[in-house]
Amino acid sequence: MAYDSNNIFAKILRGEIPNQTVYEDEHVLAFRDIRPQAKAHVLLIPKGPYESFEDFSARASDAEIVAFTRAVAKVSRLAGIDVTGYRAIANTGADGHQEVPHFHLHLLGGQRLGRMVSLPE
Ligand code: AMP
Repeated sequence: MAYDSNNIFAKILRGEIPNQTVYEDEHVLAFRDIRPQAKAHVLLIPKGPYESFEDFSARASDAEIVAFTRAVAKVSRLAGIDVTGYRAIANTGADGHQEVPHFHLHLLGGQRLGRMVSLPE
């Protein structure tokens, strides 16, 4: 499937939609989720056009992957959740219930989060 450059995170990267930036570097942008699911909820995205974690893992350059992974610790610190802990979630594809087709890692924390997964009825 081809990357859809009209997705909302592509628009954020182009500066067409505002965001609450937490961290930014050459390869990565992190910003607050617009509908937070926990007291702290930040999204970390690569600047390159990757539609999912699957796509990023398969096609991104080593430099992009290193930058993304290194950014996790920077963002967790900036969000104040590095010590207390957090959950990192990459919803992927249809079964993963991914809604925005640009790879993003959710960092959720600031409170106890309960069990890892709840399945639909
Ligand atoms: P997912 O279901 O993993 O694709 O998650 C998409 C996430 O993007 C949801 O948590 C939304 O609340 C979030 N989201 C959608 N639009 C925006 C936006 N304009 N700014 C920040 N977060 C957004």
